[in-house]
Amino acid sequence: MEVPWLLVAHGSVTALVVVSFLCGQWPIFEGTFVQSINHFLNFGAYHYLLRFVQAVCGNGAKDLVLGVEQYCCDRPNPILQVFYVAIIGVTYFIIVQTSFEYIPGYYVSGWHRYLSIVAVAVGAILFVLTSFSDPGTITAENVSQYVSAYPYDNVIFVEKECSTCKIPRPARAKHCRICDKCVARFDHHCGWMNNCIGEKNTRYFVAFLVWHFLICVYGALVIGFILAGELKERKVIYILTAYYGIENSFSGLFPHVAQWLLAVHNTQILLSVFLAILALLLGGFCAYHAHLCLTNTTTNESFKWQDYIMWMKKENEAKANAAALKASMGSANSDAHKAPPSKWRAFFVRSRRPSVEPVVKNNIYDRGMIRNMCEVIVPLSERKSFSHRKSD
Ligand SMILES: [Zn+2]
Ligand SMILES: [Zn+2]
Repeated sequence: MEVPWLLVAHGSVTALVVVSFLCGQWPIFEGTFVQSINHFLNFGAYHYLLRFVQAVCGNGAKDLVLGVEQYCCDRPNPILQVFYVAIIGVTYFIIVQTSFEYIPGYYVSGWHRYLSIVAVAVGAILFVLTSFSDPGTITAENVSQYVSAYPYDNVIFVEKECSTCKIPRPARAKHCRICDKCVARFDHHCGWMNNCIGEKNTRYFVAFLVWHFLICVYGALVIGFILAGELKERKVIYILTAYYGIENSFSGLFPHVAQWLLAVHNTQILLSVFLAILALLLGGFCAYHAHLCLTNTTTNESFKWQDYIMWMKKENEAKANAAALKASMGSANSDAHKAPPSKWRAFFVRSRRPSVEPVVKNNIYDRGMIRNMCEVIVPLSERKSFSHRKSD
């Protein structure tokens, strides 16, 4: 049997582009071609497209592309929502069309037909909840409650007014320039949901991520069991060993079994690889958001802390260097009358790094894992104490 090189090449290139686009900025890929591809996809490709359009079709076409970009990236729009529905719909349709005929199978019970519908339906409900629920919009009516719900830490959040909404901006809130409103406990603006992720809908968003991770793992496993059942029912291993004389070992059988599966069940193989890649990406994203929930931090805050720590480190380094310079000048003056130090001693004295004060991240919103999780599941604005704050 021929190795389907075209299929392998297509799969490899697609996986490389997807991984580069989504994970290219991770520290692990720093300085590698994955980071270069990510940079090209995020910045270079669009720049070249604009230059190409301008050269071929003129300035009018370039303005049109810029207008489309503004609509897609700077305004609320349902493009990615439609894309999500299409991915889920098409994938589930392909699974029903190509794989339901094997259910029930040797290892797969018949009730997976119905369980899969329930799994997709729950995913769709979580999608609708995240997309269309209020993320925690701050208005003139509820701003005082939000201000007293989250204290200012005076490190990454200081008391100030939102220049657009003209109302005080509570700690942990941010003005979303796409939705054009202030959102409490702002996490990020999610293009896939066409909605902000904030105080009230972080729970739906995290549930959505976890559920879709589980769906992908479930789908990949069921397809895996379908393929295992096919191998068993069609006696592939028996035929390979008894009729073709293939050695009955993993290394001997694997290439032949893989070739048979790629030839007879290539759709199922592609589906399971697609689901496994999605599961890996979603798993990473779930772990990141679980960590954020458990430490009572938002994506917005984690970026703010990163900036703060970097800035403080630089400032402390500058302070330490200035202090070291001052000390060395003082000792140079006092040593002026003494015998000159040996070259070796001077080398070690010069190479000693000045001690830099470590930067401490003090997240005042972190109240322990259990209370942090409770805050995500039952947001402060939905508790009795929140409505009482109005009269404060
Ligand atoms: Zn605002
Ligand atoms: Zn938004």
